[in-house]
Amino acid sequence: MQKTTEVRKAGAHRKTDNAAKRRMAMVAVAASAVTSAGAAGATAGAQQANADDVSLASNTTLLAQGAEGSAAPQAAEAQAPQILEVPQNAPIAELSDQLSSALRFAQAREAADLLARAPLAAKPAEGSYTSPFSMRWGTMHNGIDLANGIGTPILAAMDGIVIDSGPASGFGNWIRIRHDDGTVTVYGHMSTLDVAVGQHVTAGQKIAGMGSEGFSTGSHLHFEVHPAGGGAIDPVPWLQERGITIQ
Ligand SMILES: [Zn+2]
Repeated sequence: MQKTTEVRKAGAHRKTDNAAKRRMAMVAVAASAVTSAGAAGATAGAQQANADDVSLASNTTLLAQGAEGSAAPQAAEAQAPQILEVPQNAPIAELSDQLSSALRFAQAREAADLLARAPLAAKPAEGSYTSPFSMRWGTMHNGIDLANGIGTPILAAMDGIVIDSGPASGFGNWIRIRHDDGTVTVYGHMSTLDVAVGQHVTAGQKIAGMGSEGFSTGSHLHFEVHPAGGGAIDPVPWLQERGITIQ
């Protein structure tokens, strides 16, 4: 009984020993297999990356660069120009599109902003308010006079179309502009004319240089307003309604 027990113990012990050795062997084989599979996988990965998988190639390169002394960096370095070039270019191309889109948006917004801030009306000239819209020297003075030096810019009071630009009796030279609402503004005595008949002008655009042409005693602008192209009205309140003050 005791011998059997010893044998059984010994057998059990050997059996355990053998099982442990087999497990160790299996682990060794498995480790070898894993190592082989890993190497094969890395090779396959490199080939695949070379072919088309850009992101994997990028990751492989980064990992290889992180692992000093391994064989991988040499292989990666050999392919480095191709591997690194594509993943860098792709985001830059997208960035370029995004910047281009942002630039177009900014330009459109700037144009809309400028349009929104563009004046609807402008003071036709800087200068001294020397004569009002009133009877003068026994006749009706149909506009206002703003006196300043020869060549002082004369500006379109509002957007419109130039319907006259040239010599006119009494005015020396005149410009008439028909605005979108049908109102006609008249500018007289200019020394130079910058616009032609049929030309579209915008509020504040320089149309002429001040002068003393025609029936005039000094360099000034004579300015008239004709609603709907009819009889003249006092330009001062008309300008005031559009935010332009004449002193
Ligand atoms: Zn006048």
